Amino acid sequence: MENKKGKLFVVTGPSGVGKGTILNKFFENNKDNVCYSVSMTTRRPRPVEIDGVHYIFTDIDTFKKAIENDEFLEWAQYSGNYYGTNKKFVLDKLNKGINVILEIETKGAKQVMEKFPDCISVFFAPPTLDELEHRLRGRKTEDEDSIKKRLDVVKSELQMIDKYKYSIINDEVENALNKLQAVYDFETGNKDE
Ligand code: ADP
Ligand code: 5GP
Repeated sequence: MENKKGKLFVVTGPSGVGKGTILNKFFENNKDNVCYSVSMTTRRPRPVEIDGVHYIFTDIDTFKKAIENDEFLEWAQYSGNYYGTNKKFVLDKLNKGINVILEIETKGAKQVMEKFPDCISVFFAPPTLDELEHRLRGRKTEDEDSIKKRLDVVKSELQMIDKYKYSIINDEVENALNKLQAVYDFETGNKDE
């Protein structure tokens, strides 16, 4: 697929590493010419999540119909649920010259990297596996089964680390945020000075 206008960023990494935390702060500081791709999921909403903002929450039948209708740029099953990126949304934004950030798990990231070899892939890694588990548990959003499913795939997710254009260890939020900003500025030629 040809696209020369907006840049496509793929942000990935294990659950609980801090992708959402860092991207929230990133979007506080970057409001022009860049957007977040809101995914569709069959996961149940967490109490703080808003339909259409954090995700488009749907049921399995609707999700499967969207797969059949080729509505996804990528999709994957993760921790017992389906997650997918709306193709039309992303391509429309890129065609308008707007940079798009996908926050997705590693199987979906692989699909996007194959379809869009020019995409800018960023992998967030935890400082240690213990710290990752501590963050995932500390978030208090998952039940034990979901925590276990998420931790079970971490080692295989980390094995792919050299496939990404950038990898950032999320030790301190400010530190990781500055690194993501540096990647974004470099890749988009976005400099304030
Ligand atoms: P993800 O989106 O990758 O699943 P979250 O952004 O939800 O991860 O972060 C998981 C938990 O870890 C949250 O409770 C968040 O506040 C915390 N967290 C994120 N980054 C850091 C960090 N650098 N140090 C300590 N805690 C962090
Ligand atoms: P959570 O349930 O914690 O919100 O998300 C679980 C994992 O699914 C996270 O790694 C998140 O980045 C990823 N994810 C969110 N949206 C998508 C998507 O559209 N496609 C894929 N492949 N993964 C997604």
